[in-house]
This record gives sequence, C-alpha cells and structure tokens, in this order.
Amino acid sequence: MNLKDQIPLTSLKKLYQPFGVEADVLRLDQVHPIVSGNKWYKLKEYLSEAERLQKKVLLTFGGAYSNHIVATAAAAKAKGFPSIGIIRGEKPITLSDTLQDAADQGMNLFFIDRSSYHLKIIPPEVWRLYKPGEVFIVPEGGYGSLGCQGAATILKEVNSPYSHIAVAVGTGTTVAGLASAASQEQKILGVVALKSYVEMEGAINNLLSDLHAPILLFHDYHFGGYAKKTPQLISFMNDWFRDTGIPSDFVYTGKLFFAVDDLIRKNYFEKGARLLLIHTGGLQGNRSLPKGTLIF
Ligand SMILES: *Cc1c(COP(=O)(O)O)cnc(C)c1O
Repeated sequence: MNLKDQIPLTSLKKLYQPFGVEADVLRLDQVHPIVSGNKWYKLKEYLSEAERLQKKVLLTFGGAYSNHIVATAAAAKAKGFPSIGIIRGEKPITLSDTLQDAADQGMNLFFIDRSSYHLKIIPPEVWRLYKPGEVFIVPEGGYGSLGCQGAATILKEVNSPYSHIAVAVGTGTTVAGLASAASQEQKILGVVALKSYVEMEGAINNLLSDLHAPILLFHDYHFGGYAKKTPQLISFMNDWFRDTGIPSDFVYTGKLFFAVDDLIRKNYFEKGARLLLIHTGGLQGNRSLPKGTLIF
C-alpha cells in the first residue's frame, strides 16, 4: 500500500488564536484515496498476521456505509488477498456507493439479517468457498489489540509536543492506540460517536496495558446516537469547511470538530494549550446524505 510519506497538518491558528490555544489537524484523510484515515493503521497489523498465518482470504463485517469495509477491501487487494464482506441487512437492489467501491476492489459481499449480524454469523455460502482454517477474520471496525498496535503508529507521523490529542471514538481502538503511544503528560480526548455507550470505557481498557496517557471521554456530542445527525451538526460542518477548508463526516469527525470547537469556546483548555485533532478520514457516511446537504 502506497501511503503519502508526510501526513499534512492543517493549522487552525486563525480560528482559535483569539482563545489562547493552538490547534492543528493531522490529515489522515489524505493518506490514501480509498483507505483513508485511521482504518489503514488499524488494519495493517491484521494484514501482517494474516500473511504470517498464510491465510487465503480476509473476512470482515460492516454496514452499507462502512469506512471499515471499503478500507479492508482496498487494503486486502493491495496485499494480494481476496476479501469477503459480511454486510448488515438485506441485499439492496442497487448497492450503496460504498459497497460498490468495496465490490470494485474485489470484495465478495454477503448480506445477512440484523440478528445474525449481531451474532456475527458467517453464512454457509462462505464455507462452500473456503475452509475455516483459510479465513482470517478481522473483527468489526478493526477492534482488537492488533488494531490498537497499528493505531499507535499514527503518532509516529507527528513531531511537535501537543498537550492534548483529540479523536472521534467508534470502537475505541484508535483512542487506545493513541493513548498507548502518547507520553504520560499528554491528554487524550475521545469524542464518542455513540449514544450512552457505557461499555466504552471497558472496551478501551481491555486494549491497554498499565502505562498509557490519560484518556478523557466525552459522551455528550453524539447528536442523537451512532450515525445520527441534527441540522445543527450539518450546519457546523459546512461552516467549519468554509472556515478551514477541511471536510468532515457526520458520523465521526463532524462530531469531533464540533466538540473541540465547543470546548475551546467554553474555555475548557488552559491558555497556551496545544491541541492536535486527528482527522480520521472516512467520509463514506456523507454519501448517504441527499445531494446539496453539504457544500463540499
Ligand atoms: C472508524 C472511524 C472512527 C472510529 O475509530 P475507532 O478506532 O473504531 O474508535 C473514527 N473516525 C472515522 C472517520 C472512522 O471511520
């Protein structure tokens, strides 16, 4: 997989200097045209493990607009693996743009009903194609310690000492990786994209060893829940794009940027704080919006 050598940073000086804080955005959305954002980092250790175990195919799970599904399809293809996507819900008459992209990357898609999906049941058709020992299963969303190890390498892209590192949280894998790689003096802020997901703290702690930077989770910026949105969020995303030139998505990074903006305006951060916002990429969710909703 050919990634950009240098991950660009976008400074938010103009926007936040009046509040006495500095902020930069780490543009993981620009690392690769398809495998954008944190997904590549979460996947790379799984891919190495699949190679090491000489597996024949990669299998993973996701919804119709899943960033993880497209990223897995593209990353598997780049490593020479065929891939299988187990997709939640009935097969639609026309595939979503996201699933079409995954199929174009050679992913073989299987649709299962929501309750089978919940139980992560692999349909029998798969076992007609492959023996169980040949299939390498990447957990949904890349959650797991290999995903965490991969996400930890995100901070290798960054030199300057930031006081706070902020990221959107889905499975918690990325925030755990960042916390394990950051120094103890840095604070990791996680903006949770799900509504009242009380298991999140435990899910994150399961991935961490004792030594890690402190993590602060924010649970009040979900805008109604996972993949939910409000007109306020959408108009923030448009304003933010106008002010910064940075696109965001309504499932994850829109909520992150909204939260950090809100915290800065409420003087949550001490003067002189240096913030790094991780743009985790993955704009797939926006493709489910009616045309014209977003200005980018
Ligand atoms: C998947 C995803 C996340 C969540 O990452 P986790 O490691 O699951 O917490 C955040 N942002 C974007 C854009 C994503 O696609």
